Amino acid sequence: MENAIEITNLNKTYKATKRTAAKVALQDVNLSIPKGSIFGLLGPNGAGKSTIINIMAGLVIKTSGQVNIAGFDIDVNERNAKASIGIVPQEINFDPYFTPFESLDLQAGLYGIPKAQRRSMEILEMVGLADKRDAYVRSLSGGMKRRMLVAKAMVHNPAILVLDEPTAGVDIELRKQLWDNVKVLNEQGVTILLTTHYLEEAEELCDRIAIINKGQVVACEDKDTLLGRIEGKEITFVLDRDLDTLPDAMSGFCAEIKKKRKLVVRYNPNETNVQAIIEALQSAGLGIADITTDQSDLEDVFLQLTSSAA
Ligand code: ADP
Ligand code: MG
Repeated sequence: MENAIEITNLNKTYKATKRTAAKVALQDVNLSIPKGSIFGLLGPNGAGKSTIINIMAGLVIKTSGQVNIAGFDIDVNERNAKASIGIVPQEINFDPYFTPFESLDLQAGLYGIPKAQRRSMEILEMVGLADKRDAYVRSLSGGMKRRMLVAKAMVHNPAILVLDEPTAGVDIELRKQLWDNVKVLNEQGVTILLTTHYLEEAEELCDRIAIINKGQVVACEDKDTLLGRIEGKEITFVLDRDLDTLPDAMSGFCAEIKKKRKLVVRYNPNETNVQAIIEALQSAGLGIADITTDQSDLEDVFLQLTSSAA
């Protein structure tokens, strides 16, 4: 599969200043982002997500490594690399005195797009701000400002759109709107790279997810594979009598005696049916007094992957 972005052995150390020590932000990061995908870069605060994005944007100078955008090496062919990518920054920053229409027009000018080829209205419609074309940006709600950032990143019709924590601090309804925008753009063929620390967001949107922690990629898989790996369930049985050892009938399961009468069984619902577990208990002559279940989710995997390492 062709890749929209290829990052090879990327390292970044922020230099020490008078007041701060040197900081290793990225360590040998390798990432391939397939063309046409919605790729999630997931990680806790300080993991290095924005550093990666800012290197792609040309705002941060990498220490070493290679970054290819749409086949263009950012060191060799910066212009073409930049023309292929639209970046929605983490921080909201634009001049409050321009209207959305003016703001987009100005941005298009910065990219050297001739007036006749500007698509400001089309883009405003795409992000649901057509009726705000002449409002001051400062009068827009937080969610609308986010969508303006997406609009600004799209003026030069880039093949790749990068969103850095697009929904941080955005309420759930606006978050959903933004997700819809992203999905529509992706359906139109735009490759999406988004960073987030919301697992739900990655789960909802992304086809492929990389997890980064302390500057290192700790997982990179198709979402379904990642979820399949972690979608374990835990079921606790309270039995009608004490257990000292596991009955033979339970040997095929991942079962553990917690207390004399409590038996915990971990299983993958894709592979094991609860019915089979219950039947095994019954065949061992055990009665069930109570059952509770606990579902692990992306949150668990995330914690597992990000707390253990380093
Ligand atoms: P994330 O976006 O995942 O929250 P960042 O890429 O912003 O993470 O930060 C990664 C690490 O690099 C953090 O420890 C952060 O403090 C540090 N860092 C980020 N920007 C700078 C900078 N300009 N100077 C020094 N350290 C920085
Ligand atoms: Mg960040």
